[in-house]
Amino acid sequence: MPVQAIDTLTPCPCGNADGYPRCCGPLHEGLAADTAERLMRSRYSAYVLKREDYLLATWHASTRPATLKLAAQQPAPTWLGLDVRHFEAEGDSAVVEFVARLRYGGGKAQRMHEISRFVREDGRWYYLDGSFRED
Ligand SMILES: [Zn+2]
Repeated sequence: MPVQAIDTLTPCPCGNADGYPRCCGPLHEGLAADTAERLMRSRYSAYVLKREDYLLATWHASTRPATLKLAAQQPAPTWLGLDVRHFEAEGDSAVVEFVARLRYGGGKAQRMHEISRFVREDGRWYYLDGSFRED
């Protein structure tokens, strides 16, 4: 399991200095995220760790793809960091705006600026969809 493979002294892949076992790790093991921002951060970490199972499980059934084929992605992305810009929740819906930095293969670092929508059902937050922003 990836939990054991990660050094507890290093920040969580989402950037939290508390480290993976105190941040995104428990969510990846099944704990419900208390806010959509936490879910969004854990999904970013899941991209870093190629936890496709988690990404699909936290994707709302109405918009969920059948597969992400993360392992087969070529060139594979290297995730460089996450910056949550804005978070807004009202009842069972939420919006998170973030910038993720990544690089494909040996290419230049690029920014992915997205506004994601989330919904809560039966106490769990799910990713619904996202729209990209040009910077
Ligand atoms: Zn984290």
